Amino acid sequence: MRVLIGGGSGFVGRELTRLLRHKGHEVTVISRQPGPGKITWAELESHGLPPCDGAVNLAGENLMNPLRWWNESYKKDLFSSRIDTTKSMAQAIAASSSPPHSWVLVSGVACYKPSLTAEYTEDSEWTPFDVLSQLVKEWEASALLPEGVTKNTKQVVIRSGAVLGRDGGAMKQMLLPFWLGLGGTLGSGAQPFPWIHVSDLAGIIAKSLEPPAAPPPPSPQVLNGVAPALSTNLEFTKELGRVLRRPTVLPVPGFVMNAVMGSERAVVLLQGQKVVPKRTQEAGFVYTYPDLTSALKEIVGS
Ligand code: NDP
Repeated sequence: MRVLIGGGSGFVGRELTRLLRHKGHEVTVISRQPGPGKITWAELESHGLPPCDGAVNLAGENLMNPLRWWNESYKKDLFSSRIDTTKSMAQAIAASSSPPHSWVLVSGVACYKPSLTAEYTEDSEWTPFDVLSQLVKEWEASALLPEGVTKNTKQVVIRSGAVLGRDGGAMKQMLLPFWLGLGGTLGSGAQPFPWIHVSDLAGIIAKSLEPPAAPPPPSPQVLNGVAPALSTNLEFTKELGRVLRRPTVLPVPGFVMNAVMGSERAVVLLQGQKVVPKRTQEAGFVYTYPDLTSALKEIVGS
């Protein structure tokens, strides 16, 4: 199978590329930079979709970029880097004479309203309530294919939790302070922390890219891209400390997080949702890292 990966040079894209190549598939990455095995977004727009059997978009300005202050210009980049790239791929698929059999978007669980008690499955209703949930709404809407194309192309949206892996995402920023014994809970620590190991997320994407067994439905299939174990920030903090054999006695108060990150962004860490991967498991996906202990041992030990 030939797979086109928008933003495939990033943290999740590198893991997905490794997995797909290991399975014998060919990968082309869409990037802002030209290079071997890549096309640029400008080339996608001018030449149209290259031949491919599956397509996925992973492009997006990093939400946790520590070098960027939370301001209007950063928010604009978060929206446009996701929505414009997703639109470009959806439009290229719609215009193609031989569209891929699968089109996958990885979005986020920020669409579900943070709560200490509510549990969200893929069937849960939601409406935007803050800037990040508004982003998810516009992002997922930009992936929709026009009616005629959906007869041939399966559409999948994977709503990912925080992706854990050694080479990127949140862990890259957390490992050093935890290793130095400076790690601690964020805010109260009671907030749910929806997460997934990067190798499981790559596995769910790869499975979603497989050809559909039956004619695809007209609307996208939503899968929650989170581990089945529900964890809180306190449980995550304690487990990371235990696996690293380091103390985790220095909590970071919510007001510090809000001041440093901006409250609209800090919400991702200070509040959280209990997200259940109901349909992901019903679809037969088997997790390699279903719980924090196995995931963190792999990350810290590798
Ligand atoms: P990365 O931060 O690694 O970025 C992926 C790629 O996006 C980059 O390699 C880059 O490709 C491209 N990119 C970055 N900034 C821009 C920009 N301003 N405009 C256009 N392209 C840009 O992302 P991840 O691999 O961590 O995540 C993949 C997707 O999953 C993202 O859309 C992310 O929002 C989503 N997600 C990730 C989570 C996580 O914890 N990592 C959690 C939930 C969702 P290049 O430089 O080659 O152009």
